[in-house]
Amino acid sequence: MMIIMKANATPQQVEAVIAQVKSEGLNVHLSQGVEATIIGAIGETHSIPPDRFEGLDGVESVQRITQPYKLASRQFHPEDTRVTLDGFAVGGEEIAIIAGPCSVESRSQIVETALAVKEAGACALRGGVFKPRTSPYSFQGLGEEGLEFLAEARDRTGLPIVVEIMSQVQLELMARLVDVLQVGARNMQNFNLLRAIGEIRTPVLLKRGLSATVEELLMSAEYILSGGNRQVMLCERGIRTLETSTRNTTDINAIPVMKNLTHLPVLLDPSHSTGHADLVPAVARAAVAAGADGLIVEVHPDPAHAVSDGKQSLKPEKFAQMVDQVGQIAQVMGRRLAVVRGEHPSARQGWT
Ligand code: PEP
Ligand code: MN
Repeated sequence: MMIIMKANATPQQVEAVIAQVKSEGLNVHLSQGVEATIIGAIGETHSIPPDRFEGLDGVESVQRITQPYKLASRQFHPEDTRVTLDGFAVGGEEIAIIAGPCSVESRSQIVETALAVKEAGACALRGGVFKPRTSPYSFQGLGEEGLEFLAEARDRTGLPIVVEIMSQVQLELMARLVDVLQVGARNMQNFNLLRAIGEIRTPVLLKRGLSATVEELLMSAEYILSGGNRQVMLCERGIRTLETSTRNTTDINAIPVMKNLTHLPVLLDPSHSTGHADLVPAVARAAVAAGADGLIVEVHPDPAHAVSDGKQSLKPEKFAQMVDQVGQIAQVMGRRLAVVRGEHPSARQGWT
């Protein structure tokens, strides 16, 4: 339930409404935007009549939030959330390009890739060290050693690092070492993991599940937000359909759909969406034209010998061309590519 305060409501009136919300056994989320002060009453609100709050001093109106997700909804939080990383924000005018290999394979591979993607215009480095592989016999990732290599690549380039977390067991280590926790498609509904991530304040890139609806993705974001971690970015990465010519089907519609439904930044992964390096630039361009706030792209110096996802990985030269094209589309959209400042530790801010 949203309690919208009058423009001239006093701080004492706001406090009195908050006290009333708490006395109903509900949690409070206060949003003091430029245009209005909104008090969110979160919890089992359906049995509480709006007139419990409507008569209080300073209250303009009371509205029920119609979606099942509350903190993630734009109705509740009309202004775009900006997730601040190192000198740039995801979710504002800037388009964030995160790039790097599917898996960290060696110190030289990740450092070489980091230098190349930075040079091409990426603002963050991706690299998996705990890999969710379909087969238990496939390469599972370098684990902690891979995180050391990523940290070195970050030191050399200043690029913040985005790394997938697979389990709560990895949380303490990852929260200490990475700038953005990636929750992969296969873990989108690992609710215990989402709750645990909600308890910390590291920014999160939450990917859409293989067959998940937009609403299910937003409900998963709600798990993280409701724990107090408001630094959540969403990522469309293709969904499973009857089409077999590509690895997944890019749900381009999901970008404007999510931009309408939620204030959280929306990114697209053209690599897992398509499964083919040749298709990646076209889908990346389409995503930015459709209003995406960023891209996460697989880049490898030698895709033919990559240990995972080589077929969909761009060589650095192709990636640089793609960044140029995306930059031009960003301009048409009145936006620009994000540029990393290159200082660490990255500035972590709350929800703005
Ligand atoms: C990845 O980013 O390497 C990955 C495994 O992606 P997804 O979770 O979208 O399949
Ligand atoms: Mn991959």
